[in-house]
Amino acid sequence: MSVTGKDFGIIGGGIGGMAAAIAIAQLGGRVTVYEQAAKLAEVGAGIQISANGLAVLKELGVDPEFAGPASRPQAVELRDYKAGRFVARIRQNHNPDYPYLQLHRADLMTALVVRADALGVMVKLGARAEILDAFVERPEIRVGDTTQTFDTIIAADGVNSKTRQDWFEAGAARFTGQVTWRATIPADDPDAPTTVYMGKGKHLVTYPLRGGKMMNIVAVQERKEIAAQDWENTDTPENLHAAFAEFGGEAKEILSQVKDVRVWGLYGHPPLQTWWRANVALLGDAVHPMFPFMAQGACMALEDASVLARKLDETDSIRLGLARYGTTRMRRASKVQRLAARNGKMFHLSNPLLRFIAQSALTVISTVMPRFLERRFDWIYKNNISQEVGFYVITGFLFGR
Ligand SMILES: Cc1cc2nc3c(=O)[nH]c(=O)nc-3n(C[C@H](O)[C@H](O)[C@H](O)COP(=O)(O)OP(=O)(O)OC[C@H]3O[C@@H](n4cnc5c(N)ncnc54)[C@H](O)[C@@H]3O)c2cc1C
Repeated sequence: MSVTGKDFGIIGGGIGGMAAAIAIAQLGGRVTVYEQAAKLAEVGAGIQISANGLAVLKELGVDPEFAGPASRPQAVELRDYKAGRFVARIRQNHNPDYPYLQLHRADLMTALVVRADALGVMVKLGARAEILDAFVERPEIRVGDTTQTFDTIIAADGVNSKTRQDWFEAGAARFTGQVTWRATIPADDPDAPTTVYMGKGKHLVTYPLRGGKMMNIVAVQERKEIAAQDWENTDTPENLHAAFAEFGGEAKEILSQVKDVRVWGLYGHPPLQTWWRANVALLGDAVHPMFPFMAQGACMALEDASVLARKLDETDSIRLGLARYGTTRMRRASKVQRLAARNGKMFHLSNPLLRFIAQSALTVISTVMPRFLERRFDWIYKNNISQEVGFYVITGFLFGR
Protein backbone atom coordinates (compact mmCIF):
# COMPACT_ATOMS: atom_id res chain seq x y z
CA MET A 1 0.00 0.00 0.00
CA SER A 2 2.87 2.29 -0.70
CA VAL A 3 0.93 3.78 -3.62
CA THR A 4 -2.33 5.18 -2.27
CA GLY A 5 -2.05 8.84 -1.37
CA LYS A 6 1.68 8.95 -2.15
CA ASP A 7 3.38 11.40 -4.53
CA PHE A 8 5.10 10.03 -7.62
CA GLY A 9 7.25 12.03 -10.02
CA ILE A 10 7.82 10.44 -13.41
CA ILE A 11 10.57 11.76 -15.70
CA GLY A 12 9.65 11.11 -19.33
CA GLY A 13 6.28 11.02 -21.04
CA GLY A 14 6.97 8.26 -23.58
CA ILE A 15 5.05 5.00 -23.70
CA GLY A 16 6.85 3.73 -20.58
CA GLY A 17 6.37 6.87 -18.51
CA MET A 18 2.70 7.26 -19.42
CA ALA A 19 1.98 3.58 -18.74
CA ALA A 20 3.65 3.86 -15.34
CA ALA A 21 1.66 7.01 -14.59
CA ILE A 22 -1.62 5.24 -15.37
CA ALA A 23 -0.70 2.08 -13.44
CA ILE A 24 0.17 4.11 -10.32
CA ALA A 25 -2.78 6.52 -10.61
CA GLN A 26 -5.15 3.56 -10.91
CA LEU A 27 -3.97 2.39 -7.49
CA GLY A 28 -4.54 5.80 -5.93
CA GLY A 29 -1.11 7.41 -6.31
CA ARG A 30 -0.76 11.14 -7.11
CA VAL A 31 1.30 11.36 -10.26
CA THR A 32 3.17 14.18 -11.99
CA VAL A 33 4.82 13.44 -15.34
CA TYR A 34 7.66 15.69 -16.55
CA GLU A 35 8.23 15.68 -20.30
CA GLN A 36 10.91 17.84 -21.90
CA ALA A 37 9.11 18.02 -25.26
CA ALA A 38 6.45 20.66 -25.87
CA LYS A 39 3.79 17.97 -26.37
CA LEU A 40 3.21 14.32 -25.68
CA ALA A 41 3.67 12.83 -29.10
CA GLU A 42 5.12 9.85 -30.91
CA VAL A 43 6.67 9.70 -34.35
CA GLY A 44 4.43 9.03 -37.36
CA ALA A 45 5.33 5.36 -37.58
CA GLY A 46 4.02 1.99 -36.55
CA ILE A 47 4.50 -0.08 -33.45
CA GLN A 48 3.77 -3.76 -32.91
CA ILE A 49 2.26 -4.72 -29.58
CA SER A 50 2.18 -8.42 -28.78
CA ALA A 51 -0.14 -10.20 -26.35
CA ASN A 52 2.03 -9.49 -23.30
CA GLY A 53 1.89 -5.72 -23.98
CA LEU A 54 -1.81 -5.83 -24.85
CA ALA A 55 -2.55 -7.61 -21.56
CA VAL A 56 -0.98 -4.65 -19.74
CA LEU A 57 -2.94 -2.10 -21.80
CA LYS A 58 -6.13 -3.95 -20.86
CA GLU A 59 -5.16 -3.92 -17.19
CA LEU A 60 -4.53 -0.16 -17.46
CA GLY A 61 -7.95 0.43 -19.03
CA VAL A 62 -6.32 1.65 -22.26
CA ASP A 63 -8.15 0.76 -25.48
CA PRO A 64 -5.39 0.39 -28.10
CA GLU A 65 -7.90 1.20 -30.86
CA PHE A 66 -9.34 4.27 -29.12
CA ALA A 67 -7.81 6.70 -31.65
CA GLY A 68 -7.55 4.55 -34.77
CA PRO A 69 -7.94 1.00 -36.03
CA ALA A 70 -5.15 -1.50 -35.51
CA SER A 71 -3.98 -4.08 -38.02
CA ARG A 72 -4.03 -7.78 -37.11
CA PRO A 73 -1.46 -9.55 -39.29
CA GLN A 74 -2.17 -13.18 -40.08
CA ALA A 75 1.51 -14.03 -40.44
CA VAL A 76 5.13 -12.92 -40.48
CA GLU A 77 6.83 -13.85 -43.74
CA LEU A 78 10.60 -14.10 -43.96
CA ARG A 79 12.02 -13.50 -47.45
CA ASP A 80 15.44 -13.23 -49.03
CA TYR A 81 16.46 -9.78 -50.21
CA LYS A 82 17.42 -10.43 -53.84
CA ALA A 83 14.10 -11.26 -55.47
CA GLY A 84 11.98 -11.69 -52.37
CA ARG A 85 12.32 -15.48 -52.40
CA PHE A 86 10.07 -17.04 -49.75
CA VAL A 87 11.92 -18.44 -46.74
CA ALA A 88 9.36 -19.05 -44.00
CA ARG A 89 5.91 -18.13 -42.75
CA ILE A 90 4.94 -17.91 -39.09
CA ARG A 91 1.24 -17.54 -38.28
CA GLN A 92 0.05 -14.72 -36.05
CA ASN A 93 -3.35 -13.92 -34.57
CA HIS A 94 -4.53 -17.52 -35.01
CA ASN A 95 -5.25 -17.79 -31.29
CA PRO A 96 -7.74 -15.12 -30.18
CA ASP A 97 -6.39 -15.34 -26.62
CA TYR A 98 -3.01 -14.04 -27.81
CA PRO A 99 -3.57 -11.17 -30.24
CA TYR A 100 -0.81 -9.27 -31.99
CA LEU A 101 -1.63 -5.71 -33.05
CA GLN A 102 0.09 -3.16 -35.24
CA LEU A 103 -0.76 0.38 -34.23
CA HIS A 104 0.11 3.86 -35.33
CA ARG A 105 2.35 5.25 -32.57
CA ALA A 106 0.39 8.48 -32.45
CA ASP A 107 -2.83 6.50 -31.88
CA LEU A 108 -1.29 4.53 -29.02
CA MET A 109 0.02 7.72 -27.42
CA THR A 110 -3.40 9.39 -27.70
CA ALA A 111 -5.04 6.43 -25.99
CA LEU A 112 -2.49 6.57 -23.14
CA VAL A 113 -2.83 10.34 -22.72
CA VAL A 114 -6.63 10.22 -22.59
CA ARG A 115 -6.57 7.47 -19.96
CA ALA A 116 -3.95 9.28 -17.87
CA ASP A 117 -5.97 12.46 -18.03
CA ALA A 118 -9.12 10.65 -16.88
CA LEU A 119 -7.20 9.40 -13.84
CA GLY A 120 -6.02 12.89 -12.91
CA VAL A 121 -2.36 12.48 -13.85
CA MET A 122 -0.68 15.89 -14.03
CA VAL A 123 1.59 16.37 -17.03
CA LYS A 124 4.18 19.15 -17.17
CA LEU A 125 5.35 19.79 -20.72
CA GLY A 126 8.52 21.56 -21.84
CA ALA A 127 9.86 20.42 -18.48
CA ARG A 128 13.40 19.08 -18.62
CA ALA A 129 13.71 17.43 -15.25
CA GLU A 130 16.61 16.26 -13.14
CA ILE A 131 16.89 14.62 -9.77
CA LEU A 132 18.61 16.77 -7.13
CA ASP A 133 19.45 13.98 -4.68
CA ALA A 134 18.29 10.42 -5.20
CA PHE A 135 19.42 9.18 -1.79
CA VAL A 136 17.05 11.02 0.53
CA GLU A 137 13.73 9.94 2.00
CA ARG A 138 11.80 12.31 -0.29
CA PRO A 139 13.81 12.82 -3.49
CA GLU A 140 13.48 16.09 -5.35
CA ILE A 141 12.96 16.91 -9.02
CA ARG A 142 14.25 20.19 -10.37
CA VAL A 143 12.96 21.88 -13.52
CA GLY A 144 14.60 25.24 -14.15
CA ASP A 145 14.27 27.21 -10.91
CA THR A 146 11.51 25.12 -9.37
CA THR A 147 11.76 21.96 -7.33
CA GLN A 148 9.24 19.47 -6.06
CA THR A 149 9.64 16.55 -3.65
CA PHE A 150 8.14 13.10 -4.08
CA ASP A 151 7.82 9.84 -2.21
CA THR A 152 9.11 8.03 -5.28
CA ILE A 153 10.64 9.06 -8.60
CA ILE A 154 10.41 6.86 -11.69
CA ALA A 155 12.86 7.70 -14.46
CA ALA A 156 11.41 6.67 -17.82
CA ASP A 157 13.71 9.06 -19.64
CA GLY A 158 14.65 6.82 -22.53
CA VAL A 159 17.83 5.28 -23.88
CA ASN A 160 19.89 8.40 -23.11
CA SER A 161 18.58 8.51 -19.53
CA LYS A 162 20.41 11.18 -17.57
CA THR A 163 19.10 9.61 -14.37
CA ARG A 164 20.84 6.34 -15.27
CA GLN A 165 24.12 8.18 -15.78
CA ASP A 166 23.80 10.51 -12.77
CA TRP A 167 22.57 8.05 -10.15
CA PHE A 168 23.13 4.47 -11.33
CA GLU A 169 26.84 4.61 -12.14
CA ALA A 170 26.08 3.60 -15.69
CA GLY A 171 27.61 5.17 -18.77
CA ALA A 172 26.06 6.86 -21.74
CA ALA A 173 24.36 4.83 -24.45
CA ARG A 174 26.70 3.98 -27.33
CA PHE A 175 26.14 3.86 -31.09
CA THR A 176 25.60 0.19 -31.98
CA GLY A 177 26.86 0.42 -35.56
CA GLN A 178 23.33 0.14 -36.93
CA VAL A 179 21.00 2.79 -38.31
CA THR A 180 17.32 2.61 -39.10
CA TRP A 181 15.19 4.43 -41.63
CA ARG A 182 11.46 4.74 -41.09
CA ALA A 183 8.74 5.74 -43.48
CA THR A 184 5.07 5.11 -44.23
CA ILE A 185 3.48 4.87 -47.67
CA PRO A 186 -0.20 4.75 -48.68
CA ALA A 187 -1.56 1.21 -49.06
CA ASP A 188 -4.81 -0.66 -49.36
CA ASP A 189 -4.32 -4.15 -48.00
CA PRO A 190 -5.57 -4.88 -44.49
CA ASP A 191 -4.49 -8.54 -44.86
CA ALA A 192 -0.88 -7.90 -45.86
CA PRO A 193 1.48 -10.00 -43.74
CA THR A 194 4.38 -8.56 -41.81
CA THR A 195 7.31 -9.15 -44.16
CA VAL A 196 11.00 -9.25 -43.29
CA TYR A 197 13.37 -9.08 -46.27
CA MET A 198 16.74 -10.34 -45.03
CA GLY A 199 19.91 -9.01 -46.67
CA LYS A 200 23.62 -8.98 -45.96
CA GLY A 201 24.16 -6.72 -42.98
CA LYS A 202 20.71 -5.19 -43.41
CA HIS A 203 17.01 -5.98 -43.43
CA LEU A 204 13.72 -4.38 -44.32
CA VAL A 205 10.42 -4.84 -42.44
CA THR A 206 7.00 -3.88 -43.79
CA TYR A 207 3.59 -4.16 -42.18
CA PRO A 208 0.12 -2.66 -42.57
CA LEU A 209 -1.14 0.17 -40.36
CA ARG A 210 -4.53 1.76 -39.67
CA GLY A 211 -6.47 -1.21 -41.02
CA GLY A 212 -4.24 -1.49 -44.11
CA LYS A 213 -4.55 2.11 -45.33
CA MET A 214 -0.84 2.66 -44.69
CA MET A 215 2.27 0.52 -44.92
CA ASN A 216 4.94 0.93 -42.26
CA ILE A 217 8.55 0.58 -43.38
CA VAL A 218 11.57 -0.01 -41.16
CA ALA A 219 14.93 -0.46 -42.88
CA VAL A 220 17.99 -1.35 -40.81
CA GLN A 221 21.60 -1.22 -41.99
CA GLU A 222 24.87 -2.03 -40.27
CA ARG A 223 27.25 0.81 -40.98
CA LYS A 224 30.20 2.65 -39.48
CA GLU A 225 28.94 6.16 -40.16
CA ILE A 226 27.18 7.41 -37.04
CA ALA A 227 23.67 8.79 -37.37
CA ALA A 228 22.21 11.08 -34.73
CA GLN A 229 19.75 9.54 -32.35
CA ASP A 230 17.02 11.97 -33.19
CA TRP A 231 13.58 10.83 -34.21
CA GLU A 232 13.16 14.01 -36.26
CA ASN A 233 16.32 13.46 -38.31
CA THR A 234 15.16 13.45 -41.95
CA ASP A 235 17.02 11.83 -44.83
CA THR A 236 16.49 11.66 -48.59
CA PRO A 237 14.73 8.69 -50.23
CA GLU A 238 17.78 8.49 -52.54
CA ASN A 239 20.04 7.64 -49.59
CA LEU A 240 17.64 4.91 -48.53
CA HIS A 241 17.48 3.52 -52.10
CA ALA A 242 21.27 3.57 -52.36
CA ALA A 243 21.69 1.74 -49.05
CA PHE A 244 19.26 -0.98 -50.21
CA ALA A 245 20.26 -0.96 -53.92
CA GLU A 246 20.81 -4.73 -54.03
CA PHE A 247 17.26 -5.45 -52.78
CA GLY A 248 15.07 -6.61 -55.65
CA GLY A 249 11.48 -7.64 -56.41
CA GLU A 250 8.72 -6.44 -54.08
CA ALA A 251 11.18 -4.83 -51.64
CA LYS A 252 12.58 -2.58 -54.36
CA GLU A 253 9.07 -1.64 -55.51
CA ILE A 254 8.06 -0.73 -51.93
CA LEU A 255 11.18 1.37 -51.33
CA SER A 256 10.63 3.24 -54.61
CA GLN A 257 7.35 4.61 -53.19
CA VAL A 258 9.01 6.27 -50.18
CA LYS A 259 8.76 10.08 -50.34
CA ASP A 260 9.54 11.15 -46.75
CA VAL A 261 11.97 9.26 -44.59
CA ARG A 262 13.71 9.64 -41.26
CA VAL A 263 16.94 8.02 -40.18
CA TRP A 264 18.57 7.66 -36.82
CA GLY A 265 21.25 5.66 -35.12
CA LEU A 266 20.40 2.78 -32.82
CA TYR A 267 22.07 3.33 -29.46
CA GLY A 268 22.33 0.81 -26.71
CA HIS A 269 23.54 -0.03 -23.27
CA PRO A 270 24.28 -3.45 -21.77
CA PRO A 271 21.75 -4.90 -19.30
CA LEU A 272 21.87 -3.09 -15.94
CA GLN A 273 22.24 -4.91 -12.63
CA THR A 274 20.72 -2.05 -10.65
CA TRP A 275 17.16 -0.98 -11.45
CA TRP A 276 16.45 1.00 -8.31
CA ARG A 277 18.34 3.01 -5.73
CA ALA A 278 16.72 4.34 -2.57
CA ASN A 279 13.35 5.74 -3.69
CA VAL A 280 14.23 6.06 -7.39
CA ALA A 281 13.65 3.43 -10.10
CA LEU A 282 14.44 3.21 -13.81
CA LEU A 283 11.87 1.97 -16.31
CA GLY A 284 11.63 1.23 -20.06
CA ASP A 285 14.46 2.13 -22.45
CA ALA A 286 16.22 3.95 -19.60
CA VAL A 287 17.04 0.61 -18.03
CA HIS A 288 16.84 -1.88 -20.90
CA PRO A 289 17.30 -0.19 -24.28
CA MET A 290 17.06 -2.88 -26.93
CA PHE A 291 17.34 -3.39 -30.67
CA PRO A 292 13.90 -3.28 -32.31
CA PHE A 293 14.42 -6.77 -33.85
CA MET A 294 11.99 -8.47 -31.48
CA ALA A 295 9.52 -5.54 -31.44
CA GLN A 296 9.55 -5.71 -27.63
CA GLY A 297 11.00 -2.42 -26.30
CA ALA A 298 7.64 -0.80 -25.67
CA CYS A 299 6.06 -4.09 -24.61
CA MET A 300 8.77 -4.51 -21.97
CA ALA A 301 8.19 -0.92 -20.81
CA LEU A 302 4.47 -1.71 -20.45
CA GLU A 303 5.30 -4.83 -18.44
CA ASP A 304 7.67 -2.76 -16.25
CA ALA A 305 4.87 -0.30 -15.51
CA SER A 306 2.43 -3.01 -14.49
CA VAL A 307 4.89 -4.89 -12.26
CA LEU A 308 6.20 -1.68 -10.68
CA ALA A 309 2.75 -0.52 -9.57
CA ARG A 310 1.76 -3.98 -8.30
CA LYS A 311 4.97 -4.54 -6.35
CA LEU A 312 4.68 -1.13 -4.72
CA ASP A 313 1.09 -1.83 -3.82
CA GLU A 314 1.95 -5.15 -2.18
CA THR A 315 4.01 -3.59 0.62
CA ASP A 316 4.08 -0.58 2.92
CA SER A 317 7.74 -0.02 2.16
CA ILE A 318 8.56 1.89 -1.02
CA ARG A 319 12.11 0.60 -1.07
CA LEU A 320 10.99 -3.00 -0.69
CA GLY A 321 8.41 -2.48 -3.47
CA LEU A 322 11.05 -1.04 -5.80
CA ALA A 323 13.47 -3.85 -4.95
CA ARG A 324 10.83 -6.44 -5.77
CA TYR A 325 10.07 -4.63 -9.04
CA GLY A 326 13.73 -4.77 -10.04
CA THR A 327 14.30 -8.38 -9.13
CA THR A 328 11.05 -9.46 -10.81
CA ARG A 329 11.78 -7.68 -14.07
CA MET A 330 15.57 -7.86 -14.46
CA ARG A 331 16.02 -11.39 -15.76
CA ARG A 332 13.17 -11.35 -18.26
CA ALA A 333 13.85 -7.90 -19.70
CA SER A 334 17.61 -8.52 -19.96
CA LYS A 335 16.95 -11.81 -21.73
CA VAL A 336 14.68 -10.16 -24.30
CA GLN A 337 17.30 -7.43 -24.69
CA ARG A 338 19.96 -10.03 -25.56
CA LEU A 339 17.59 -12.00 -27.78
CA ALA A 340 16.74 -8.90 -29.82
CA ALA A 341 20.44 -8.36 -30.55
CA ARG A 342 20.87 -11.96 -31.69
CA ASN A 343 17.77 -11.83 -33.88
CA GLY A 344 19.39 -9.00 -35.84
CA LYS A 345 22.44 -11.19 -36.46
CA MET A 346 20.19 -13.90 -37.90
CA PHE A 347 18.46 -11.40 -40.23
CA HIS A 348 21.83 -9.99 -41.37
CA LEU A 349 23.89 -13.12 -42.13
CA SER A 350 26.53 -12.24 -44.75
CA ASN A 351 28.31 -15.56 -45.20
CA PRO A 352 26.59 -17.27 -48.19
CA LEU A 353 26.96 -20.78 -46.77
CA LEU A 354 25.58 -19.79 -43.37
CA ARG A 355 22.72 -17.92 -45.04
CA PHE A 356 21.88 -20.97 -47.13
CA ILE A 357 21.92 -23.30 -44.15
CA ALA A 358 19.91 -20.96 -41.89
CA GLN A 359 17.32 -20.10 -44.54
CA SER A 360 16.93 -23.73 -45.66
CA ALA A 361 16.48 -24.81 -42.03
CA LEU A 362 13.81 -22.15 -41.56
CA THR A 363 12.00 -23.23 -44.73
CA VAL A 364 11.98 -26.88 -43.67
CA ILE A 365 10.87 -26.13 -40.11
CA SER A 366 8.12 -23.74 -41.17
CA THR A 367 6.79 -26.36 -43.62
CA VAL A 368 7.17 -29.51 -41.56
CA MET A 369 6.68 -28.15 -38.02
CA PRO A 370 4.99 -24.74 -38.38
CA ARG A 371 3.93 -24.72 -34.73
CA PHE A 372 7.54 -24.97 -33.66
CA LEU A 373 8.32 -21.50 -34.99
CA GLU A 374 4.97 -20.14 -33.82
CA ARG A 375 5.61 -21.24 -30.27
CA ARG A 376 9.24 -20.18 -30.15
CA PHE A 377 8.41 -16.87 -28.49
CA ASP A 378 5.50 -18.07 -26.38
CA TRP A 379 7.61 -17.40 -23.30
CA ILE A 380 7.54 -13.71 -24.23
CA TYR A 381 4.05 -13.28 -25.64
CA LYS A 382 2.26 -15.53 -23.18
CA ASN A 383 4.35 -14.18 -20.34
CA ASN A 384 4.98 -17.65 -19.00
CA ILE A 385 8.65 -18.38 -18.63
CA SER A 386 8.11 -22.13 -18.12
CA GLN A 387 6.96 -22.58 -21.73
CA GLU A 388 10.36 -21.92 -23.19
CA VAL A 389 12.01 -25.06 -21.86
CA GLY A 390 10.99 -27.54 -24.59
CA PHE A 391 12.25 -25.31 -27.37
CA TYR A 392 15.35 -23.91 -25.83
CA VAL A 393 17.97 -26.38 -26.95
CA ILE A 394 17.12 -26.61 -30.67
CA THR A 395 16.28 -22.95 -31.21
CA GLY A 396 19.43 -22.06 -29.30
CA PHE A 397 21.41 -24.13 -31.77
CA LEU A 398 19.66 -22.72 -34.84
CA PHE A 399 19.37 -19.09 -33.89
CA GLY A 400 22.00 -18.56 -31.25
CA ARG A 401 19.59 -17.95 -28.40
C1 LIG B 1 12.84 1.44 -35.35
C2 LIG B 1 12.20 1.04 -34.07
C3 LIG B 1 11.07 0.22 -34.08
C4 LIG B 1 10.50 -0.21 -32.89
N1 LIG B 1 9.40 -1.03 -32.93
C5 LIG B 1 8.88 -1.50 -31.78
C6 LIG B 1 7.74 -2.36 -31.80
O1 LIG B 1 7.22 -2.68 -32.88
N2 LIG B 1 7.25 -2.81 -30.62
C7 LIG B 1 7.80 -2.47 -29.42
O2 LIG B 1 7.33 -2.93 -28.37
N3 LIG B 1 8.86 -1.61 -29.37
C8 LIG B 1 9.40 -1.13 -30.50
N4 LIG B 1 10.46 -0.26 -30.46
C9 LIG B 1 10.99 0.15 -29.15
C10 LIG B 1 10.14 1.23 -28.52
O3 LIG B 1 9.92 2.28 -29.43
C11 LIG B 1 10.82 1.75 -27.26
O4 LIG B 1 11.30 0.70 -26.50
C12 LIG B 1 9.84 2.56 -26.42
O5 LIG B 1 9.28 3.60 -27.16
C13 LIG B 1 10.56 3.10 -25.18
O6 LIG B 1 9.67 3.90 -24.43
P1 LIG B 1 10.21 4.71 -23.18
O7 LIG B 1 9.02 5.44 -22.65
O8 LIG B 1 10.98 3.84 -22.28
O9 LIG B 1 11.27 5.73 -23.79
P2 LIG B 1 11.08 6.99 -24.86
O10 LIG B 1 10.00 6.61 -25.78
O11 LIG B 1 12.41 7.23 -25.35
O12 LIG B 1 10.55 8.12 -23.90
C14 LIG B 1 11.44 8.85 -23.09
C15 LIG B 1 10.83 10.21 -22.89
O13 LIG B 1 11.55 10.89 -21.89
C16 LIG B 1 11.70 12.24 -22.28
N5 LIG B 1 12.86 12.75 -21.52
C17 LIG B 1 14.15 12.35 -21.61
N6 LIG B 1 14.91 13.01 -20.72
C18 LIG B 1 14.08 13.86 -20.08
C19 LIG B 1 14.27 14.80 -19.03
N7 LIG B 1 15.47 15.02 -18.46
N8 LIG B 1 13.19 15.49 -18.57
C20 LIG B 1 11.96 15.30 -19.11
N9 LIG B 1 11.73 14.43 -20.11
C21 LIG B 1 12.78 13.70 -20.57
C22 LIG B 1 11.92 12.17 -23.78
O14 LIG B 1 11.63 13.41 -24.40
C23 LIG B 1 10.92 11.09 -24.16
O15 LIG B 1 9.65 11.60 -24.44
C24 LIG B 1 11.05 0.20 -31.64
C25 LIG B 1 12.16 1.05 -31.61
C26 LIG B 1 12.73 1.46 -32.81
C27 LIG B 1 13.93 2.37 -32.76
